[in-house]
Amino acid sequence: MAYDPRIELMTGDITELAVDAIVNAANSSLLGGGGVDGAIHRAAGPGLLAECRRLGGCKTGEAKLTAGHRLPARHVIHTVGPVWRGGGHNEEALLARCYRASLELAKAHGLRSVAFPAISTGAYGFPRQRACAIAVDETHRFLQTDETMERVIFVSFDAETDALYRRALGLD
Ligand code: ADP
Repeated sequence: MAYDPRIELMTGDITELAVDAIVNAANSSLLGGGGVDGAIHRAAGPGLLAECRRLGGCKTGEAKLTAGHRLPARHVIHTVGPVWRGGGHNEEALLARCYRASLELAKAHGLRSVAFPAISTGAYGFPRQRACAIAVDETHRFLQTDETMERVIFVSFDAETDALYRRALGLD
């Protein structure tokens, strides 16, 4: 598939990005957790948790929008990735749905720049290479028919994940 120049890669802390929305790899309670979820809540301050409490949770593969509170990002899109249970429990389709739902929610709110962490690849144990390929494939699919999104950034927390994104994008 041809490389879409609206897709960017970055290595570092997603909480520092001044984009329209950063995506949170949340759990279904939306009441905070470890990993990127904990980092986002710490950086956003208590207003984010207060807003999340009013959302009534989120199902796996779905996404919900909040303000960014004290983050440089204007909004947070909370999506719940699948827990990896060996691959026979619809994990791949559910992960693809997280990317699709997040991008559609962003578009519905007129947001034009969205940054994703590698959803499900931390505590939820999804194999990293497969997860990066799904992220890239689903985003390409979305961008093929979208004319409003300007930037989709895949943020890696480590060099290994960045290399997997590069491979999935055909950059290496
Ligand atoms: P999950 O429960 O969906 O697996 P985790 O937060 O445990 O979510 O991990 C998801 C990914 O986010 C992992 O690849 C992890 O290295 C990465 N990560 C953790 N903290 C940050 C951060 N501050 N910025 C960007 N990525 C992060």
